[in-house]
Amino acid sequence: MSIYVVGHKSPDTDSICSAIGMAYYEKAMGFDAVPARAGEINKETKYALDYFKVDVPELISDAKEVILVDHNEPAQAFDGIENAKILALIDHHRLGGLCTPDPIYINVRPVGCTATIVADMCWRHEVEIPAEIAGLLLSAILSDTVLFKSPTCTEKDKKAAETLAAIAGVELKEYGMALLKAGAGIDGMTPAQVADTDLKKFEFGSTKAIVSQISVMDPEEVLAIKADLLEAMKANAAAKEVSLALLMVTDILNESTHLLVAGEPADLVEKAFEKKVEDNCVFLPGVMSRKKQIVPQMTNAAK
Ligand code: MG
Ligand code: MG
Ligand code: MG
Repeated sequence: MSIYVVGHKSPDTDSICSAIGMAYYEKAMGFDAVPARAGEINKETKYALDYFKVDVPELISDAKEVILVDHNEPAQAFDGIENAKILALIDHHRLGGLCTPDPIYINVRPVGCTATIVADMCWRHEVEIPAEIAGLLLSAILSDTVLFKSPTCTEKDKKAAETLAAIAGVELKEYGMALLKAGAGIDGMTPAQVADTDLKKFEFGSTKAIVSQISVMDPEEVLAIKADLLEAMKANAAAKEVSLALLMVTDILNESTHLLVAGEPADLVEKAFEKKVEDNCVFLPGVMSRKKQIVPQMTNAAK
């Protein structure tokens, strides 16, 4: 049976494209690896896969051996992970409670994107990256770093993206804007789908929470349906058995976030950002990264 390479639930472009890139790398190293996904792909990822003419990975089910990319917190992993053996972990997030019965291969680094690590592994082991895989890894970097604007972006991400763009034969900035534009906006999405975008589960001290993020060019379009979004966030919180639901409405162009807050304790949010939550919303200029600018602040506030 194949080794499945899989990213997190509510997959983003990095979780899909790094799974494809990592499966390619493993195959080049002589292993029977296939990429998989832990949920529906988003519009941005669809744009990248269509552009480089690569098939959508299969939905993971019944996996016996897996390589995890772009996540390591068990709450973010596919349902059924407890029945699978984890062989390796390639990631760029904080370590969040993964336990394994045996030693595993780990490559976790503080860079802006898992795809940066995957590309580096290929280059270190002289595995040639074909144009379409390079294009997908590039897409992941542009997405995770929001065109290098996110504070999570490092020089390694920029250098890798430039090299990958040359291999893929695309103009970096032009392709990046088109990619983000394809993923931005809430055209044709229901409030529930908006609230579900890039949803991750966290524990801030004793508070169980979900934090979703939607990146847009025009936040007003999202804020116009705030009441419906708050209802959808409450429903999500109930379904995921958490007390607090946050939705980051991130403005890609102006580099800021309107953080919508549903549930309790709202004062944890006020403590974390030293700002009043008004009408279930707090405006955070300069905030683009959940990982660097939301999760640590919430974790500290809960201490
Ligand atoms: Mg991700
Ligand atoms: Mg990532
Ligand atoms: Mg992300």
